[in-house]
Amino acid sequence: PWPPRGLRGTRGIRGPGAPLPPCLPPQEGPGPRPCAMERGRGRSVQHNGPGGPGLAAAYDSVLRCLGEDPNRQGLLGTPSRAAAAMRFFTKGYRETIADVLNDAIFDEDHDEMVIVKDIDMFSICEHHLVPFIGKVHIGYLPNKQVLGLSKLARIVEIYSRRLQVQERLTKQIAVAITEALKPAGVGVVVEATHMCMVMRGVQKMNSKTVTSTMLGVFREDPKTREEFLTLIRS
Ligand SMILES: [Zn+2]
Repeated sequence: PWPPRGLRGTRGIRGPGAPLPPCLPPQEGPGPRPCAMERGRGRSVQHNGPGGPGLAAAYDSVLRCLGEDPNRQGLLGTPSRAAAAMRFFTKGYRETIADVLNDAIFDEDHDEMVIVKDIDMFSICEHHLVPFIGKVHIGYLPNKQVLGLSKLARIVEIYSRRLQVQERLTKQIAVAITEALKPAGVGVVVEATHMCMVMRGVQKMNSKTVTSTMLGVFREDPKTREEFLTLIRS
């Protein structure tokens, strides 16, 4: 009978005649522990962290599941290249705000708004594992302490180089600045294009998603908020 027992109910099964691609990873490898999902299915994928061979093995499996031959010339190095790329796209997991802010907070009696706008942002949508990219605009009103300007971009980098949703990314940036500087207020606006919208589904080429988080006086005082929004638009 087709599908064979045990495979019923699985979507995307090919009919008789077309061999089922070997979706399971080619080999068992040593690793700290299988991830919970695979353990539950009695499989042997090793979830051995971003530096281990598990990620490349998983991409090898992805290629097989797509019906591709991972051994054809063009794909020979693809699993390890894709793994290296994904490691880079998610390097924010291995960095902390404390590392970045070390020695970059200065006492300063500056009480005017500080704005850095158009910070490039590249992130990965956690729902589809495809990129969303755009710009981040940050403003804060200092309270005796300021941050080295390049560090704002580094904070964006730490949180965007993870699997993300844009709303959470926006808030995490604002909260990190608030915790580091205890400023009078912080505003963060993120404008991004999501490849999961552009390349699939509604295919809206030019749609942008805008999210904002306003804390402190940026939330409470409409004039401060307006000043910030006007300055990032100019
Ligand atoms: Zn998505």
